[in-house]
Amino acid sequence: MLLLNPGPVTLSARVRNSLLQTDLCHRESEFFDLQDEARARLLQIYGLDAAQWAAVLMTGSGTAAVESMVAALVPENGKLLVVENGVYGERITQIATQYRIAHTVAKHEWMQAPDVARIAAALDADRSITHVAAIHHETTTGRLNDLRALASVCRERGVRLLLDGVSSFGAEAIDFADTTLAAVAATANKCLHGVPGAAFVIVRRDALAVAASRTYYLDLGRLARLQDQRNTPFTPSVHAYYALVEALRELADEGGWVARHARYAALAEQARAGLAARGMASVLPPEQSSVVLRAYRLPAGVAYPQLHDALKARGFVIYAGQGGLSAELFRISTMGDIHAADIERLLQSFDGLAK
Ligand SMILES: *Cc1c(COP(=O)(O)O)cnc(C)c1O
Repeated sequence: MLLLNPGPVTLSARVRNSLLQTDLCHRESEFFDLQDEARARLLQIYGLDAAQWAAVLMTGSGTAAVESMVAALVPENGKLLVVENGVYGERITQIATQYRIAHTVAKHEWMQAPDVARIAAALDADRSITHVAAIHHETTTGRLNDLRALASVCRERGVRLLLDGVSSFGAEAIDFADTTLAAVAATANKCLHGVPGAAFVIVRRDALAVAASRTYYLDLGRLARLQDQRNTPFTPSVHAYYALVEALRELADEGGWVARHARYAALAEQARAGLAARGMASVLPPEQSSVVLRAYRLPAGVAYPQLHDALKARGFVIYAGQGGLSAELFRISTMGDIHAADIERLLQSFDGLAK
């Protein structure tokens, strides 16, 4: 079965086999070697200086990393503006609400790009806002939000940016040189091609120095402090760390994030062109989409469950639209061990359906 859903991904044999390594106690030096390698390799992907940035690992899915970041980095007397244009932006608002973090929302329709002028006006109207939280790749629609425009609006006002990069880290450009960017939350099992269970926040050390977490288990400051000391507060998902490290080695061997971006871009274009030729248009133009996932209009008269089941019978798991979009679209991700021949077979499977 090939997974074309946005994580977990189809594993390479190399990553799958890494799960079979020896059992490890997480209080032994062998585990801390593994943890150190994962942390160092995560920084290397975007060439980050370990004196300025920390990769903080945790056990959980991508949401754990987003929650850890938001709960720690908005100070007690700070205020968060959440940019929403899909499910994942809305999730950050729910996290802020749950922790009673002072926040306001720049709400957009799911199909809309963030309105940067409106966000600038909202920041100007409320000078107590200290942080903006945004989604880089809004997986709800496949839209790649314009980070540069958002960051410049924040920079001009001395506001810091907290980024959900869960479905873009490792495959899309992220400008870490921009000092407005305080942290990026992501996970092992999307563009990095690991298994679910390990997540992380890439955080500036100056932001970490003043972090004060509202959560116990996901306390970003404690996790970072102990990991810097070759320690860990709790039992980590050791096997997920094995897979993460092997996936990071594989990524480096394949040419890093730029090569991964190019690989996804080619697969996404192959899928887009093939579906367009079969009368299924992509929802967003390619230049507004990530290379990671694209959303397509369901063919007339075909309900999603029908399409899903027929493709699953042919060996492909695709993904539904979320919420109100479930009746209109389906999504195809090209993350994981997916190749051009797989996309070709997928497209041929669509031909079989029409009859
Ligand atoms: C997948 C995803 C998440 C986290 O989902 P989990 O199920 O917790 O891994 C968060 N944000 C975005 C943009 C995502 O695509």
